Formats: sequence, structure tokens, C-alpha cells
Amino acid sequence: MLRVAVIGSGPSGVYTAQSLVQLDPEVRVDVLDRLPCPYGLVRYGVAPDHEKIKSLQNNLRTVLEHDRVRFLGGVEIGPGGLSAGRLRECYDAVVYCVGAATDRRLGIPGEDLPGSWSATQFVSWYSAHPDATEDGFVRGARSAVVIGVGNVAVDVTRILARGAAELSPTDIPQAALGALAESRVTDVHMVGRRGPSQARFTTKELRELGGLPDAEVLVEAEELGLDPDYVDPSGLTGTLRRNVETLRGWAERPARGAARRVHARFFLRPVALLADAEGAHVAAVRFERTLPDGRGGVTGTGQHEDIEAQLVLRSVGYRGVPLEGLPFDASSGTVPHLAGRVLREGAVAPGEYVAGWIKRGPTGVIGTNRPCAKETVTSLLLDAPALVGERPGEDPLGALRARGVAPVEWAGWQSIERAEAALGASLGRNVVKLPDWQSLMTAAHHSAG
Ligand code: NAP
Repeated sequence: MLRVAVIGSGPSGVYTAQSLVQLDPEVRVDVLDRLPCPYGLVRYGVAPDHEKIKSLQNNLRTVLEHDRVRFLGGVEIGPGGLSAGRLRECYDAVVYCVGAATDRRLGIPGEDLPGSWSATQFVSWYSAHPDATEDGFVRGARSAVVIGVGNVAVDVTRILARGAAELSPTDIPQAALGALAESRVTDVHMVGRRGPSQARFTTKELRELGGLPDAEVLVEAEELGLDPDYVDPSGLTGTLRRNVETLRGWAERPARGAARRVHARFFLRPVALLADAEGAHVAAVRFERTLPDGRGGVTGTGQHEDIEAQLVLRSVGYRGVPLEGLPFDASSGTVPHLAGRVLREGAVAPGEYVAGWIKRGPTGVIGTNRPCAKETVTSLLLDAPALVGERPGEDPLGALRARGVAPVEWAGWQSIERAEAALGASLGRNVVKLPDWQSLMTAAHHSAG
């Protein structure tokens, strides 16, 4: 019987486990996660007000409750935890589905000024990620700049522009809800370095910005008009065309004087973050006006515009991080692979696989992980005859425990869920997430009693 470890319980890990049990009637799968909680970015990345996408957790749950699948949380693979080599001793095959854990850098002066954060830090805060320790995002801020025009930029812009009352029914942690209730941010500038027809957001997400009760989206027709595909969208199809049409609709309607404003800006390339007079905090972002170069890129014009910002969120994409003991391509931030099989110096490494963002880079929607996982699982199952039998036939959990690992099992996670429901009830809210390691681990260990 094949025993497989899947590292990471986000969508790519869970879809990998699902493909494995669907395609092999005997395989047993352990899904390991560093956190005591499953679901990866569905729990810790999807915005709290995207309840429909969040409900995908119910589908992922069904997989993790399958009788040949086991969730083992609180297990760190790598430095400080179990090494990849020792993990391999416990399983016939390991599939790394660890995502892209860090953010890309801008590489411009002032990037690390107080008040400048990666969007990932902000997302982790409002998602109650237990590693999120910062909380001063909106304190003292009136104007915010979000750099980038992807779906993460839209998410963080929307959370800043929503009223706390709208977020209260969600599972947003109590401290973040309180901070957003006190927020004095009235203007959020979401800024792209290229044109409206090249923005990465999807239309549904873009349109949602236009439907916020206490905010309005402002665009500048002249700026949009710098994009030839905005002026004549006949060459555009699908999402790009719908995005352009949505922006055009906003350009044509009069401002209604809402309490908060979202400024969707284009053809502005960030060149520096500027400090206040004391040099202690970010005060503005300096952009250079760009123009389309006719080949999908832009060129600088030498003209600059400063946009006031006491809060800057850099939302320019995620990036994979190297895993101890695995090869890594630093230019793409991914593990080199052949149809999901890890490649070491160009040769297939038997028994080691990747799926999800660490395999193909941080692109695509949640559903993109299904075919990606299936491709990897197909490779793994083709290799299976050569993989079984090298390892003693014991239950890998015993082997993990012998190596000092004490996982949080499914009952521990269910206990966390009960604690989050109880916390919500005590606050007069629905389920409210536990935001720190201590409360999560205390809740998890309650199941033992
Ligand atoms: P993304 O889609 O890759 O967008 C990154 C943005 O940053 C682009 O606008 C890019 O502009 C810009 N950028 C990159 N480097 C820059 C620089 N040096 N200066 C200025 N701008 C720069 O990344 P993401 O928003 O982090 O999203 C990651 C993935 O998660 C995407 O596939 C996204 O669709 C998905 N996601 C989906 C949802 C949803 O479905 N609701 C929510 C969140 C995330 P250029 O195009 O010019 O490079």
C-alpha cells in the first residue's frame, strides 16, 4: 500500500490528496501543515467578506475527512522542524504543496519606511494568521496607496474602503475589526504601472469595488485614454474587455460624494516612497508617469506625481521560498519539475513531487490547482511501483512520532473550530477566528481532554 505525505493543506495540497484517493483505491495520504489549521490561503488569504469563496472550505473538509486521508497539523518541515530527508524515511512519496510564502519586493528607495507594508502582511492581519504580529496599519492614516492592480490589490483596497459594520458578520478577528472601525482612511489609491487593459484583476472583483455602500470608485478618463485598447477595445476579449468596460462605466458617471473614495489609477510607476519631515514615517509615494510602448510594456516620461499616503500596501505578487533539501529556481521562485516530478540537476528525483504555486508560480484562481494537482498525481502513480517497499511498512504517524513530531490531528482542529464558534458567540458575532499561536494550540489540545 502506497503511503504519501502531502505538505501543505491549502487548495493545491487538498486537491492533490483528493486526486490520489480518487485515482488509487488503496493509497493512504497524510496532509501535513505547519499550522494547526487546514485550508491554507482559503483560510488565511481569501478575504473575510468573500464568504462564497470561503465556503470552499466545506469541499476541502470532505477530502480531509475521507477515510484514507489524515490531517496532521502543527508539523513544520525544514529548519526548526523535521528535515525533508527524515520525512522521506516515513513515506513512499512526498508532494510539496507549500505555495508561495513571501512577497515580491519593489526595490525602490523608502520601501521599508514605517507605514509601508506588503499586502501579504495586511492580509495576514485581517485573516488572523498566527504569525501576523503587526497591527498598526490604519492608525493615523487618512490616505492609502496600494501599489499593483491584481486581485490581492483589489482585496486590500476593498477591506480599507468597507465600513466595519459590513465586516462584523464575517470571521475577521476582533482586534482587526476594532482597528478598522476606528480607521480614518478616506482615500485609497490603487495604482497600476501599465494600462487599464493590462490590469491583472478579474472583472467580478473589480466590479465589487463599485458596489460598496459607503465608497465610490473614481477614475480619470484622460488617464484611461492613454491606453489605445481602452480607446478602441475591439481587439480585446474576455476579462480584459469586461475590465475596460467596467472602468469606462465609472468614468462616465458623476461622483456622488461618498464618505470614502477608491481612486483607480494607471500608467504610474512607483519610483520612491517619501518620508515625512521627521523622516519617521511614509508620507507619500512618488510615481513616474508612463506611456504604452506598443509591445505590452511601458516607457517612462520623466514626469512625476506624488500621491499622499500614510499607509502604503505593496501588492505586487507573491514569491515562493526555497525549501531546505529541495532544488529551487530563484528566478521563478519555484521548484524545477517535470510534470510535477522534482528535478535535481535536471534528473527526476524519485518519490519527490510538487503541486500548486511552488510548482507553477503564484498565478491562477483556486480552481487552477485541480488540473495542476492531477498532473502531479498522475506522475506519482505512474512511478508508484518503483516507490513502494523501500520503507518499513509501519504507520508513518508512528515513524513521525519516533522523530519527535507531535501533530495536531483532526480532533484538535475540530476543537479549534468549536473555540472559534464560542468566541464569536461571546462577542455577539458569528464564528470569530483565534488570532495567535497560544490560543490555537490551547484550543487544539482541549480535544485531548
Ligand atoms: P498578480 O495578479 O500577479 O498582480 C500583481 C500586480 O503587481 C500587477 O498589477 C503587476 O503589474 C504589479 N507589479 C508587479 N511588479 C511591480 C512593480 N515593480 N511595480 C509596480 N507594480 C508591479 O498578483 P496578486 O494580486 O498577488 O495575485 C496573485 C494570484 O492570486 C493571482 O492569480 C490572483 O488572481 C489570485 N487571487 C485571486 C483572488 C480572487 O479570485 N478573488 C483574490 C486574491 C488573489 P504588471 O502586470 O505590470 O506586472
